[in-house]
Amino acid sequence: MPAPGHSIDEYLETIYFLAFPIGEYTPHGAGSPPLASRVAEMLHVSRASAGEMLKRLQAEGLIERGARKEALLTASGRERAERVVRKHRIIERLLTDFMGYTGYEAHERADELGDTFDDDMVARMHEKLGHPDRCPHGWPVDPDVEQAENAELAPLATLSSGAHATIVRLAEHDGDLLHWFYDQQLVPGTELVVESADSAADQFVVRVDGGTRAVSEKAAAGLFVRPA
Ligand SMILES: [Zn+2]
Repeated sequence: MPAPGHSIDEYLETIYFLAFPIGEYTPHGAGSPPLASRVAEMLHVSRASAGEMLKRLQAEGLIERGARKEALLTASGRERAERVVRKHRIIERLLTDFMGYTGYEAHERADELGDTFDDDMVARMHEKLGHPDRCPHGWPVDPDVEQAENAELAPLATLSSGAHATIVRLAEHDGDLLHWFYDQQLVPGTELVVESADSAADQFVVRVDGGTRAVSEKAAAGLFVRPA
């Protein structure tokens, strides 16, 4: 866990994720704009470190602060964030398709390697891999495709019992959670039926091919599905 010192690019990646929500699921009620506290939570750093880094991003013109002090990507911040997420997704495919890493290993390794490859290397990599259109966790390589698709998906946590859906993307920012998704075989392409949805009891039960799975609300918030 590289707890101290996430790079500017990792911060941009996190802000980008928060800036383009999937569905309108807000477990904590008031929405989750990219505030320092949300960014800190996702990167497992203190609120003070996140605040410091957001100041730096602001000084470099990558973000500006909104009315609630939320971090809003500027045009150049958004352009760089999109380049970063696209690169991350292609490097993940290099790790899984070419080097044999598992899906959950690939995410963390790709973060470590981000600075190793320049844009030309990433373009060549994408070509050699046969132009994959998604990362191993289901996120589109093309950010325009990703943003357009967001409206068609929903977190599993918003579904009611009886709903049928297919898993499209897995939240990647929590390594333990990502590992759990693979352990439970809750991976992109998996079809499921919600057997019971009880967010008061923090529990969802889904039926997949081969049995049922109990899914906590936190996990259900990180499984992005296409409702049937
Ligand atoms: Zn991924």
